[in-house]
Amino acid sequence: MSTPEAPAVRLRGLRKVYPGRPPVTAVDGVDLDIADGEFFSMLGPSGSGKTTVLRMIAGFEEPTEGTVELAGADATALPPHRRDVNTVFQDYALFPHMSVQQNVEYGLRVKRVGGAERRRRAGEALEQVRLPHLAGRRPSQLSGGQRQRVALARALVNRPRVLLLDEPLGALDLKLREQMQVELKAIQRDVGITFLFVTHDQEEALTLSDRVAVFNDGRIEQVGPAADVYEHPATAFVAGFVGTSNLLRDTDSQRVTGRTGTVGIRPERLLVLPDGAPVPGGRRSARGTVREVVYAGSVSRVVVALDGGGELIALQQNGSDATTDTAVHRGDPVHLAWRDEHVIDVPADPAVPHEGASNA
Ligand code: ADP
Ligand code: MG
Repeated sequence: MSTPEAPAVRLRGLRKVYPGRPPVTAVDGVDLDIADGEFFSMLGPSGSGKTTVLRMIAGFEEPTEGTVELAGADATALPPHRRDVNTVFQDYALFPHMSVQQNVEYGLRVKRVGGAERRRRAGEALEQVRLPHLAGRRPSQLSGGQRQRVALARALVNRPRVLLLDEPLGALDLKLREQMQVELKAIQRDVGITFLFVTHDQEEALTLSDRVAVFNDGRIEQVGPAADVYEHPATAFVAGFVGTSNLLRDTDSQRVTGRTGTVGIRPERLLVLPDGAPVPGGRRSARGTVREVVYAGSVSRVVVALDGGGELIALQQNGSDATTDTAVHRGDPVHLAWRDEHVIDVPADPAVPHEGASNA
């Protein structure tokens, strides 16, 4: 039974404790609703429980507590093949002795779908991943990105309601990964299937997702639209993990920004001014000394130790006319300038961290 307006995936009180000495609490009370057709990412450091959540949704792992609902129906006790989901893993194992076409057809063959229908649907899936011209090749004759797309076609051919993707781009080099991110987003839009995407790469999550859940130590720290999570991190952990943290704590914050508690300012919101240069109107500023300049091609990261205490990183655009005059070097006295509306008040971390909490 499924209800049309029910979320594609609904998790309630999901926990997973792996037995052992000591037992490992991999997932520690996760509640989540993922809407039909959404591109949703689970973002978090290695070991934060993302894969375990995915495996419980797929049915490969049994929850210790809690429920998994798919399209409004309780699926907690269903075996994997009775769930309307498919998984794409990072180490997508294609059958080396089969052609691309045969690899994609394989799942349908197992389900005893007839030959003509099988070929038609495999052809369709290969079109969706833009590979129909390579149907006759063996996996060894494909590039890494092409192989990844075959793995995707192999999952799409089953027409699942939800596609689970566990760091599927992790094995690709940076350039290819960025290309595939764009492709993946386009494919998801075309097929309209709910994508539940796991990554430890914040940029990837922000680029691809409608919404993001940030995981830390088996729990969700924040759920929301990508821009919200970036602009308004709910905890210091999220501020640090999603983007450069750039936090000022307590007395440092008080002296530099005049605010109490912990605050953050994103590096791209900070202007670095050589000592003595006028501060543009509408901005606050603070004095400091350049501790480090890290060149990164189109931008440099300028680390500034503030006179008032604490340290902030500012991004400086390279190669523009403006920066030839304003380029700064290690040891230079500078001003950092910012607009008050770009100061983020970061809520304090929960007073009682649970056992095994990482000190992020
Ligand atoms: P992530 O995907 O975010 O890297 P995982 O879900 O793989 O995190 O792992 C979460 C925690 O559970 C880690 O501490 C990991 O070592 C542990 N873990 C994962 N799988 C098992 C298992 N089969 N047995 C015991 N511990 C496990
Ligand atoms: Mg994982």
